[in-house]
Amino acid sequence: MTQLYGGIEAGGTKFVCAIASGPDDLRAEVSFPTTTPAETFGRAIRFFQNEAHGEPLAALGIASFGPVDLDRASPTYGYITTTPKPGWANIDFAGAMAAALALPVFFDTDVNAAALGEYVWGAGQGRDPLIYLTVGTGVGGGLLVGGRPVHGLQHPEMGHMYLPRDPEEVALFAGACPYHGDCLEGLASGPAIAKRWGQPAQTLPEDHPAWALEARTLAHALTNMIFTLAPQMIILGGGVAEQEHLLAKVRAEVERLLRGYIQSPWLKPGLADYIVRPGLGRRAGVLGAIALAALA
Ligand code: ADP
Ligand code: ZN
Repeated sequence: MTQLYGGIEAGGTKFVCAIASGPDDLRAEVSFPTTTPAETFGRAIRFFQNEAHGEPLAALGIASFGPVDLDRASPTYGYITTTPKPGWANIDFAGAMAAALALPVFFDTDVNAAALGEYVWGAGQGRDPLIYLTVGTGVGGGLLVGGRPVHGLQHPEMGHMYLPRDPEEVALFAGACPYHGDCLEGLASGPAIAKRWGQPAQTLPEDHPAWALEARTLAHALTNMIFTLAPQMIILGGGVAEQEHLLAKVRAEVERLLRGYIQSPWLKPGLADYIVRPGLGRRAGVLGAIALAALA
């Protein structure tokens, strides 16, 4: 019998909920805005109660924006913890779902889950370690080692690494991260680009200097990840990475920064098969949540 799972991709802007056994067997899907925890959880709970049509769900996977508490021994396991998002700090997400739906709940960051989904069903099959970096409203990195999401001090926070900057740029832009100013997210997220250049990222033409700067910033970050973690692939998700020309610029810049130092069959000239878009497309997150439940 086919096992069905519930999955929630919980973003700061919207929630996506799905019922599926895998990417080719998506039974139901819904998306709605992230409002208050009570209202948003209520909509998710009603979706799983109504849309399974009597078929039992084996488990629920939650791929959440963070920071989150992933320590099963902690009294706040399954909580969204220190988020600056109003109303969402210290909220028991996994517990609320487990109580309402009476299901085993598997909880991780949105990007760890997306990395897992890509590893099982998407572009990252057979690639280990695997990094999934989203560049959207925020910047976040998920990391799998040995096919498992890395936990530790909670989870990696690659979106907040510091990078070298040109002095002229330092004078022009202090960055947009509320915690660190000019960390990777503070420089390279969609809102950071909009703040730096005075217009939304999707309205900037391909030849705008914003993109060379964005590529340089992302390439420094990716190169640091490559030297530190030796990933066999880096998947770039999120709205900003939808700019295909940006991906080409990032690949070229990473190749330049590596200086041919690492010899590996995974690093073929051009890096077209190494720095890639998600194989699961916009569903990487929600299918990642399904994968969390299915692989648990
Ligand atoms: P979220 O991170 O909220 O899940 P997205 O990944 O779509 O959602 O990220 C939204 C951010 O990405 C916004 O700041 C938006 O300006 C930017 N963005 C979305 N689509 C594009 C695009 N095609 N090109 C450039 N920037 C984009
Ligand atoms: Zn930061």
